[in-house]
Amino acid sequence: MLLTMLTITGALRIVIDETTEATGTLHVEAGAIVDHAVHGETIDVSGCVVTPGLVNAHHHLLQSAFRTLPGTRGVIMSEWLPTMAAAYARAGVDAELASAAAAVGVAEGLLSGVTTVADHHLTWPAGADTVSIATATADAAAALGGRLVFVRGSARDDPQVAAASAEEIIEALLPRTTDGMLQLAVGPAGVHSDSRETFELMAEVAAKFGLRRRTQANEQVDVAIALERYGMRPLDVLDEWGWLVPGVTIAHLCDVTDGEIARLAASGITATHAPGCDLPMGWGIAPVAALRAAGITVGLGTSGGGSNDAGHLLADARLAMQVAPLVGPPIAAREVLGMAMAGSALGLGRPELGNLRVGSAGDLCVWDVSGVADAGVSDPVAGLLWASPGRRPRHVVVAGQVVVRDYQLVNADERALVETLTRRLPA
Ligand SMILES: [Zn+2]
Repeated sequence: MLLTMLTITGALRIVIDETTEATGTLHVEAGAIVDHAVHGETIDVSGCVVTPGLVNAHHHLLQSAFRTLPGTRGVIMSEWLPTMAAAYARAGVDAELASAAAAVGVAEGLLSGVTTVADHHLTWPAGADTVSIATATADAAAALGGRLVFVRGSARDDPQVAAASAEEIIEALLPRTTDGMLQLAVGPAGVHSDSRETFELMAEVAAKFGLRRRTQANEQVDVAIALERYGMRPLDVLDEWGWLVPGVTIAHLCDVTDGEIARLAASGITATHAPGCDLPMGWGIAPVAALRAAGITVGLGTSGGGSNDAGHLLADARLAMQVAPLVGPPIAAREVLGMAMAGSALGLGRPELGNLRVGSAGDLCVWDVSGVADAGVSDPVAGLLWASPGRRPRHVVVAGQVVVRDYQLVNADERALVETLTRRLPA
């Protein structure tokens, strides 16, 4: 890593973490926030709010290639799944497609302030070279300068094959995880799709390599299928299979009872809220205020392009605020922003991400709030979420490196990424 030194000066407001703000100057040295002046590039950010880089805790990057697919909008999950599967089969999921889709997804994230994205990769065609698919995804993120958490997922895969592939992927990519730009994790899609054996084998792989585990639970279909197949609700099944333990992050959690919330809190799991997927899919709204009040760390994710056509985490933070009062008390802008920062990062076991305290990673976004969309806004931090839907950061820094400058990717040509994906997809 280059030992870049960077000074961010003149900020209207600096969001250090969910409860701490400052004004003025930030110094970044050797990829970390430091408390002393450094000699390097100075970026004047007058009229801008600076936040930590956002952490998208739940994405399926491959689905960036399959947005607004006919037959996937306004349909029930039992129609959505085969339509998506047919599209994957028609396109042929391989390293080339994984690379093109990941590049688009990671770039879209960076351009909207996401400096770390967790890619829960669930699509592994029989006989595919899974190491090359994972490597291509990691390479795509690295080329753009974004942080990636590659989650070797499973969705109805053969348990032994999935576990063996996870081990191969981890052995191939683990040497690349030392600088924090790449992290590895494992995670079956959910009890609705994967067996006890898959969950147990994936847990063994996680334990062997010291990795976090991630899964999805309590969307509507998940509850219905678990009741039908096991006579239990999904969290009972996960508990029996050893997955309600610290180090596990569960996405969605739309349909949870008060008793289940207490149980989740006691278990030490973390959660990911993904309203930009849950709402259009008709799964409901996770009771985020209640989850947080119970002491559960809640992050924010977009989920994939097949259910949420945008990978814009700040837009979904706004959505989370807007829908929260429908299922409980409202959630303040700073709290939702905190979910998209440290909430997501802590679920990944990454306390150095999602904040700008001294010693944290030098990942930050510079949001220009000097335009008409922010005029009349009295609280520029709350305004980041409430005003200007779809806003993009002017500059984005990852590990002290400027990766978006004046709204443009530094390390790639945006049009070329689009062209590469478009060329790879069936006409
Ligand atoms: Zn998902």
